[in-house]
Amino acid sequence: MTANRGRTIFERIIDREIPAQIVFEDDDFIAIRDIAPKAPIHLLVIPKRHTERVDEITDAAEMGRLWLTAVKVAREQAADYRLVVNCGEGGGQVVFHTHIHILAGWEKGPESD
Ligand code: 5GP
Repeated sequence: MTANRGRTIFERIIDREIPAQIVFEDDDFIAIRDIAPKAPIHLLVIPKRHTERVDEITDAAEMGRLWLTAVKVAREQAADYRLVVNCGEGGGQVVFHTHIHILAGWEKGPESD
């Protein structure tokens, strides 16, 4: 964890300081429902190890586990889905703790969000 930047909302959820609807958890990841869903199903897959953004993960195995976890959680929720990563302020990132969005639940495919 980075000492001077303060802890993000997701670290506080991981540490159970703030409630969230948890749909999956193991030693390394947690998946929660987004508090402001942009799709009928909107989940966030969050690594417990703190990095600010996905491109700070340089280990291939760690990156692989993150995406495999996202796919596993997504497939448990829906047959078809969209995975999205916002990276950096200009990429639409608001919470600076790495996470993958799972968006799903449209009947006839995703509309713009
Ligand atoms: P970003 O834009 O950083 O990729 O996405 C951050 C996401 O976190 C947003 O979709 C936002 O709705 C969600 N979010 C922000 N605060 C909370 C919270 O306290 N709880 C949950 N479950 N989601 C949150």
